[in-house]
Amino acid sequence: GSAEDLLVCTGVKAGYGNIEVVRQFDLAAPGGSVVAVLGPNGAGKTTLLNTLSGLLPAQSGSVSVGGLTVKNGRPADASDAGIVLVPDDRALFTALTVEENLLAARGRHRTTVDGAFDRFPALAVRRKLAAGHLSGGEQQMLAVARALMQEPRVLLLDEMSMGLAPIIVEELMPMVRRVAKDTGAVVVLVEQHVHLALEVADRAIVLVHGEVVLDRTAAELAADPTLLESAYLGGS
Ligand code: ATP
Repeated sequence: GSAEDLLVCTGVKAGYGNIEVVRQFDLAAPGGSVVAVLGPNGAGKTTLLNTLSGLLPAQSGSVSVGGLTVKNGRPADASDAGIVLVPDDRALFTALTVEENLLAARGRHRTTVDGAFDRFPALAVRRKLAAGHLSGGEQQMLAVARALMQEPRVLLLDEMSMGLAPIIVEELMPMVRRVAKDTGAVVVLVEQHVHLALEVADRAIVLVHGEVVLDRTAAELAADPTLLESAYLGGS
């Protein structure tokens, strides 16, 4: 990638034991950009995010952030490099308040809850409420706000839309773009709602059976739906 690429993945292969799930993943993305990773169920999207966040060791290949290579299969090293994952189950502490969830995530960072509440006013008014009492959309917002407490340089969002009504997903999606622009992080967005994802992404990669079958600008894909259709069909 070029000097301005913040996240560079080169030949990443990932899977479980000797099962290959992601066969070859290459990406170079500048800070402030949103990369949508699309593809049918079982394509390997979650496996890819878990690998980028160090939870699952890559079988080969490398990941670097800001020119520094992240040690393979070490979540703490990925986290030090600024890679933060929001898993599809959101992993909130449902019995803790909104504010406590944010504080618990801060770690060594000096971020304040005020910053989070400025960014997400809907959470500010619920700061003393247990996270489990928030609506699904608010819980997802909290999961993202919590990730931002760690000042990510690479934010991995796994199916934000999981369990949410499409209308709520539509409301949440602009937040993704805003976060990328405001923080300068690379946001990798795994999403089933292809059309909503393309509205906020700069670039889209389609994975089918662990293979990248399409890699284009979001604008190109939005303008020509047949590209996506044939990618989904051709790869299966
Ligand atoms: P979905 O949208 O359904 O979550 P996905 O694109 O995120 O799909 P993955 O969850 O990464 O796909 O799954 C890819 C493949 O890896 C699937 O065939 C799945 O069965 C397999 N897989 C996932 N987790 C494991 C695991 N812990 N051990 C073995 N195989 C697994």
